[in-house]
Amino acid sequence: MEIKAIRGFNDILPDEIGKWQFVEKTAREVFEGFGFSEIRIPILERTELFARGIGEATDIVEKEMYTFADKSGNSLTLRPEATASMARAYLEHQIYTFDPVAKFYCIGPMFRYERPQKGRYRQFYQIDAEVFGVDNPMVDAEIIVMLIHFLERVGLEKLELQINSLGCRKCRPRYRQEIINFLKKKSFQLCEDCQRRLETNPLRVFDCKVETCQAAIVDAPKVIDFIDRECQDHFGKVKEYLEAAGLTYILNPRMVRGLDYYTRTAFEVVSYQLGSQNAVTGGGRYDNLFQEIGGPDIPGIGFAIGMERLISLLPKDKVFIQHPHLFIAVLGDETIKKAYQLINQLHLEGIRAELDYEGKSLKSQMRRADKLKARYVLIMGEEELKKGRAVLRNMEDKSQEEIPIEGLLNALKEKVRRKV
Ligand code: ATP
Ligand code: MG
Repeated sequence: MEIKAIRGFNDILPDEIGKWQFVEKTAREVFEGFGFSEIRIPILERTELFARGIGEATDIVEKEMYTFADKSGNSLTLRPEATASMARAYLEHQIYTFDPVAKFYCIGPMFRYERPQKGRYRQFYQIDAEVFGVDNPMVDAEIIVMLIHFLERVGLEKLELQINSLGCRKCRPRYRQEIINFLKKKSFQLCEDCQRRLETNPLRVFDCKVETCQAAIVDAPKVIDFIDRECQDHFGKVKEYLEAAGLTYILNPRMVRGLDYYTRTAFEVVSYQLGSQNAVTGGGRYDNLFQEIGGPDIPGIGFAIGMERLISLLPKDKVFIQHPHLFIAVLGDETIKKAYQLINQLHLEGIRAELDYEGKSLKSQMRRADKLKARYVLIMGEEELKKGRAVLRNMEDKSQEEIPIEGLLNALKEKVRRKV
């Protein structure tokens, strides 16, 4: 039987890779321009890191983690997100002793055992950016500005930035109680999961996609009405800084985000072109995460962009496939060696050139050049070669010219590069 990939795990094929490379390159350029450095963290971590960092009563930890015991019996987990690992690395290497502020980004695969569907996979890619060590609201705005700038740079349109404040350790318990009281009266309307969430993590009901649960929370108390003075001031400043940067946002009092560690500012960017899996990116402040994983009291804020969803939104008219610059059509055994030498030189110069390996007819070689969308074809026939010449055909306008073999490399470099 033919072996197939695991459900929810995708191949990213060469005809799509141009988009991925473009997105990654743009992220690196934009983020580095904002003073962020790349960090690469392991794909496997101790299960404890996520259980404590993300929170036991979250969807991720409750049911989405790829957890297994290794040969020594340690419980390990394929990372479902990057923030906890980045925080761990920051603590483990005492990066804070160098400078209290750290700005990191990370690009790579995450793993969650979810039901695969459009926009939702079991291995998916994220671009993450985090700032550790600052609780100043200026940084909340700064990271959101960077995110929006990046999304615009890759060409996304019709996005909506939603923000909310989730309060802090001091004021959230009061809200939590309020929500429990409110939802208890509606518990008959809640799905089985949410009945359980009511006990363990009532805010999670907001994230539930079941219709009756959504209906139950329509007039639920809003977190924003319960946050304390300090959190209000903080949120007020975030909004001021966003406005100062010229960003428009929507206040979404129902956005509570899936993870336990979020405090104060929470944000999401949604696209109405995505259907039900509409969040392209989400993030927020997490001022308790470091302590949860055994570190000192260090604040943090960050976001994670889902690359598959982002890529599905890229402008359709943009071309990402790299076609050959040149196809060399060879006729006659004598010429093959010459063509081989030439193509090696071209490759060393970074010119994408292709050759026929199968001794096919000129017609069939031309067909292949056409299929590969090569910009030029160099026809090297025995007759022409004897005269010290070869024929260069421009596949776009179909014009042809003879060019001397002497200095062929330079002539080709000149032509092919002109329109890169
Ligand atoms: P959702 O509500 O869609 O499950 P989430 O809150 O679980 O999202 P985060 O943990 O905030 O998502 O991850 C950030 C981004 O990663 C999401 O906005 C989304 O674009 C992407 N993402 C999350 N889970 C998946 C998945 N299983 N497959 C593909 N992309 C995903
Ligand atoms: Mg999720």
